[in-house]
Amino acid sequence: MAYTAPRGTVDLLTEETAKWQKLEQILRTISDLYNVKEIRTPIFEYTELFNRSVGDTSDIVTKEMYTFEDKKGRSITLRPEGTAGVARAFVENKMFSIADKPVKLYYMGPMFRYERPQKGRQRQFHQFGVEMLGVENPALDVEAMCMAVTIVKALGLKNVRLVINTLGDAKSREMHKQALKEHFKPYLSELCYDCNQRFEKNPLRILDCKVDKEHEAMKTAPKTLDYLTDESKAYFEEVCALLDDLEVEYEVDPNLVRGLDYYCHVVFEVISDDPVLGAQATLGGGGRYNSLIEELGGPVTPGIGFAFGMERLTIALGASDDKEEDGLDVYIMPLGEKAISLSAQILAMLRANGFKADMDYLKRGMKAQFKTVDRMHAKFAMIIGEDEVAKEVVNIKDTSARSQETVKLEEIITYLESKMEG
Ligand code: AMP
Repeated sequence: MAYTAPRGTVDLLTEETAKWQKLEQILRTISDLYNVKEIRTPIFEYTELFNRSVGDTSDIVTKEMYTFEDKKGRSITLRPEGTAGVARAFVENKMFSIADKPVKLYYMGPMFRYERPQKGRQRQFHQFGVEMLGVENPALDVEAMCMAVTIVKALGLKNVRLVINTLGDAKSREMHKQALKEHFKPYLSELCYDCNQRFEKNPLRILDCKVDKEHEAMKTAPKTLDYLTDESKAYFEEVCALLDDLEVEYEVDPNLVRGLDYYCHVVFEVISDDPVLGAQATLGGGGRYNSLIEELGGPVTPGIGFAFGMERLTIALGASDDKEEDGLDVYIMPLGEKAISLSAQILAMLRANGFKADMDYLKRGMKAQFKTVDRMHAKFAMIIGEDEVAKEVVNIKDTSARSQETVKLEEIITYLESKMEG
């Protein structure tokens, strides 16, 4: 039997991981600029956490979770998203008592959703996300949106759009919910089973339906913007004014509701129309959540966050063609049995001095070893034959200048350092 990776998962081979490391580096650098610090939470949590926070009417919770019982019969779920775990850790570790607010956190890592695998959809995928906790201020919402846009631009993606909407506060949501119920009631028999479920539990979600999205009733449904309380309206207007002041371009889409239960006020998505991603790719999104921390047993703590799908961000990076950066500094070529011990010692010395180095272990001839030097893009080839061992010297070939010199053992490091500087 041939073993295969589970459906919906992929192996990231070495060239691909180089791209991921580059992406991770960019994400860490930008997080640092925004004073956002990394948090690492478990990859699995008790199932109840997701039911409670993501919401038991969401597609994620009803259809997509990897849930199993452990040996003690506890229900465990592989995390389908990152906010719930961060919020749980925030409460459990009493991070609400940190004096300087907002507490700004980022995470990155694998998430798991039992979806039908297709282009851009996997069952194990990765997200980078940011949560800013403890402050309710339109300026912070704008900071989160700016950070999201900065990331996408830093990756070189073009035609990036920031799309925003507001769901309003709890009172606005309640009024909107009633209006949605009245609106959808006559159409229930025409809408899918899930929409009928959502009608009872959370009618806002009907607007997120993938099955019925072309139904006439979707297009004529009441919009959140028409049911905002004065406070919610003022909050949203301030967000828009701040974005204008910062000259950040955005569009308001009154149909943007986002899938998760915990959102209120501002929700947003970053969409790219860059041809490398295909038509209209949603790279990520987020929004404000003001009751989640309380819901999980903490004190009233407003928050705003967003998450990006990292697979989509790596597409933007393209393949690395920086051979200089990827290549070795030195490849050691022992010729003959007696050269191996000295080669191993020099290899250890090179690495201890910060040179990226490797050697041949296959006891091959010179020609085969030089081919490896080429393939590894080594700057220097170090040739050590039995003669060199006896004379306590090595031959160093500069592969770009195609010149070769004999160097005493004790002078190897200074020789290479001066050559590399040059
Ligand atoms: P969500 O948490 O559903 O708002 O997703 C945020 C982002 O994560 C999306 O915009 C996608 O870029 C990415 N994403 C979500 N689900 C998947 C998946 N199954 N496979 C790959 N990327 C995903």
